[in-house]
Amino acid sequence: MTRRLLLAAAMALAIVPAAQAQVAAAPGATPTSADAVRQKAALPLAGRTVLIDPGHNGGNSSHHEITGKQVWVGTLWKDCDADGAATNAGYSEAQHNWDVALVLRGLLRAQGARVVLTRTSNTGVGPCITQRAAAGNRAHADAAVSIHADGNSNGSDHGFHVILPADVGQSAAMLRRSQQLGTDIRDALREQGPTAVSNYIGEDGLIVRNDLGGLNLSKVPKVFTEIGNMHSPSDAPQIESAAGRRLEAAAIAAGLTRFLTRRRA
Ligand SMILES: [Zn+2]
Repeated sequence: MTRRLLLAAAMALAIVPAAQAQVAAAPGATPTSADAVRQKAALPLAGRTVLIDPGHNGGNSSHHEITGKQVWVGTLWKDCDADGAATNAGYSEAQHNWDVALVLRGLLRAQGARVVLTRTSNTGVGPCITQRAAAGNRAHADAAVSIHADGNSNGSDHGFHVILPADVGQSAAMLRRSQQLGTDIRDALREQGPTAVSNYIGEDGLIVRNDLGGLNLSKVPKVFTEIGNMHSPSDAPQIESAAGRRLEAAAIAAGLTRFLTRRRA
């Protein structure tokens, strides 16, 4: 494209939003808060609540006296929370999970969703995995997702997988809806995510686990995403880069939107 064409294209792009703004506001009228409320109500995720759980926390590794406390997760006793993995370059999983959660929150809010996070920064400790599940229950979330990255030590192991809850006494509806949620997020990650389907765990990017408090204790539809292996030469650059994390968040948002806008079976 020539410089002149580029300039023309840039001007056209700049003009479009202004034209749309004129159409949106009636002549002589100023937008009211009622207009804003109506516009928000028309968004695809209006009225829906999503719980985002960024796994681990930045302060966990220096506070094992807290995170090492044992909690019952329905099938076994476990540490209250874990440190999480890190890439070979030292980028921590806790930081990754937090960074992705913030991008994901922005994408979901832009579609009208109410978003609740299980932690407020990446400098704290915990909360315990039991509390992470309780937060989704308390919020009566329509969907909940726990953001993680795996730390498998074999560098040739790569790719994402989504973890579904096993039947450990949750309601049949929760299990069925979680299966749908996980499938929708798996499909979106496969279509537009930064990493391939896992070559080392699960089947077609899905696995069922009964040892995770976040799933065992959840009363709302919930899955975990593991975006890749932090020690993989192909996954680590995606996990470490803002561009890779944007792709990850956009795919998870797309999967959540697909799930939340489905007609209920
Ligand atoms: Zn993790």
